[in-house]
Amino acid sequence: MSVHVWSVPMRTRFRGITVREGVLLEGPAGWGEFSPFLEYDAPVAAPWLQAAREAAYEPWPEAVRDTVPVNVTVPATGADRAHRIVAAGGCRTAKVKVAEPGQTLGDDLARVEAVRDALGPDGRVRVDANGGWDVDAAVEAVRALDRAAGGLEYVEQPCASVEDLAAVRRLVDVPVAADESIRRAEDPYRVRDLAAADVAVLKVQPLGGVRACLRIAADIGLPVVVSSALESSVGIAAGVALAAALPELPYACGLATVQLLTDDLVADPLLPVDGALPVRRPVPDPAALRRLAADPERTAHWTERLAAVEDLV
Ligand SMILES: [Mg+2]
Repeated sequence: MSVHVWSVPMRTRFRGITVREGVLLEGPAGWGEFSPFLEYDAPVAAPWLQAAREAAYEPWPEAVRDTVPVNVTVPATGADRAHRIVAAGGCRTAKVKVAEPGQTLGDDLARVEAVRDALGPDGRVRVDANGGWDVDAAVEAVRALDRAAGGLEYVEQPCASVEDLAAVRRLVDVPVAADESIRRAEDPYRVRDLAAADVAVLKVQPLGGVRACLRIAADIGLPVVVSSALESSVGIAAGVALAAALPELPYACGLATVQLLTDDLVADPLLPVDGALPVRRPVPDPAALRRLAADPERTAHWTERLAAVEDLV
């Protein structure tokens, strides 16, 4: 099997990282991406390798749609910049980051009002607290943000724990989505069993592949939003394949993230057109693989890491 270790700087620091690294595997069915975050040990990274192998060895499940609507993501920025990001994005759904440490509910309300203004009345506004509130703060904030937005589509991960998500869900009318609460394949079942969310955010790599996610989606009986793990377009294509194969896709997906990277491994990146990604599978560009090849030290690190995870899979 052909293996390429790559490294791409991020446009802005995201999730505490400034450089995204990973491995591309080429197999008979195409290319797969293995890019677990650096702090993950081998057992946590194992499903990420299963996802990459699925991409390399098996064709994607049959698609039932040819485009996937995506959201624009608005960072915890000022209202004016938030307005510009949404107006420039061309997406009909905006995900607004809220509950940022050091900011106030007033900052969040101003940002959400600006986003609604930029989208117009027909657009959808969701907020993502990344687990930043306790239950009381979440209830107060969600009610206020729902009014400021003229209706929120949902609130993503208002609190950190699944128990607290369930508590918030019982106290507010806005639907609740679970994101950080779903990191391993068993997590969606816990979210379901505790009735902690109305929407499940699924990511292909941490959950072990497109088929694994389709099984989870069928089992948990919740609508699914497919999101990225900040992959290159090779990894994003797996998310697109999942979103394309889901029987129902009532919400825009969080797959418009390759623009967070300064470069890409393909010549035709998976970027949104009119608020949607086309369902296609770009192939790595040989020039990009050379340009973005990791240095010998990082290549050695990833080769070792891959071998450790291969022992488990
Ligand atoms: Mg999230």
